[in-house]
Amino acid sequence: MSSETAALIERRTALLGSAYRLFYDEPVHIVRGEGVWLYDTEGRAYLDMYNNVPHVGHCHPHVVAALTKQIETLNTHTRYLHENVLDLAERLTAKFPDELDTAMFSCTGSEANELALRIARACTGGTGLIVTDFAYHGNTKAIYEISTEDIPAAEVPDFVVTVPTPDVYRGPYRDADAGEKFAAHVKDALATLDSRGIRPAAMIVDTIFSSGGVIATPPGYLRDAALHVRNAGGLFVADEVQPGFGRTGRNFWGYEIDDLIPDIVTMGKPMGNGHPLAATVTRRDLVDGFSGHAHYFNTFGGNPVSCAAGLAVLDVIEQEDLQKKAWEVGLYLNQGLAALAAKYECIGDVRGDGMFKAIEMVEERASRKPDSDLAQRLVNGLRQRRVLTGSTGIADNILKLRPPMVFSQENADHFIQNFDEVLAASQL
Ligand code: PMP
Repeated sequence: MSSETAALIERRTALLGSAYRLFYDEPVHIVRGEGVWLYDTEGRAYLDMYNNVPHVGHCHPHVVAALTKQIETLNTHTRYLHENVLDLAERLTAKFPDELDTAMFSCTGSEANELALRIARACTGGTGLIVTDFAYHGNTKAIYEISTEDIPAAEVPDFVVTVPTPDVYRGPYRDADAGEKFAAHVKDALATLDSRGIRPAAMIVDTIFSSGGVIATPPGYLRDAALHVRNAGGLFVADEVQPGFGRTGRNFWGYEIDDLIPDIVTMGKPMGNGHPLAATVTRRDLVDGFSGHAHYFNTFGGNPVSCAAGLAVLDVIEQEDLQKKAWEVGLYLNQGLAALAAKYECIGDVRGDGMFKAIEMVEERASRKPDSDLAQRLVNGLRQRRVLTGSTGIADNILKLRPPMVFSQENADHFIQNFDEVLAASQL
């Protein structure tokens, strides 16, 4: 590590305190980005395979131009009339079935989820929440309480009940009926709430189970889970912060993998390509139920500049056909990963669609025992080769690949070659 990097880390720790974390044994000091590439202070290029926020590519010129034009014209808030917020609401709701016809804007995924829970509670009269057992939904107090990846079990409030992540690789059900069987746990969770005298407000699901390990959602799981929670008077909230905006290539939203229409859908991260922009999309009747209790205002959410960024992101997704590209390049990446899985026994499973992939590192394939140390060595080894990835899952043994959507076949070749080299080096 250079003395300059060491000094920056020391300064950062002194100024920001101990709660923050940096990636990699040797942290990266990035000063510029373009497309799928990040550049350090020496001008060295890093292939970004981790960041889903710069969805259409770092510093995409169309997004930068839209932001610049709007910020030099006007930035206010949603208490004045302006077309941008309406244009964005119109274009977003057009991405959903007719029922989901209303959009409310905020700045972060945490806020979008917090609003979803407030709507659910106001409309159902219930307070109970059902979440999967290793999920992240955000950082406000109310959302921390359902972020089972972070909150210690002893701190989980009695109105929050967890269900198993529907993991067909590692979980108890792996057959064709896994979706149904995992969803039956939602009924148990509802019974637990009932035994505590708590009525359900909602079940909230990250529809790609990003923290839980980027799960290949078993068919029928989301549909049945939503059915069970609705039968008990609760709502179903799809958290699309991770899979939304076409990332999986298969669909525009993660929930579309199954046969259901959520009551509320939340989104954030990729929506503004790095500009803080998030939304809660739901039905008119639910917003009416909520507004009987409270009005909504968010100082920055939905401002003309943020909405210009959101509109520009949608333009680029459409103009560059990024959902289709994600699907095609994802298939190509799968071929390379399958070849590596044939060569290296430590690759237990490769899954995920489009530009969202998980590679499970195991000690041996038969036992599927997670190899967290190896995953960390690989992530750091790739970083040394200037390829940026991350890890996820309860055992932190799963490599997570989630590059900007402009990732190409050539980029996939670059990754596969470097991954092959770090895997080979890890066997020595
Ligand atoms: N939901 C999911 C599934 C997330 O992954 C995240 C952020 N990682 C959030 C919500 C919270 O978003 P934010 O950090 O913008 O508050």
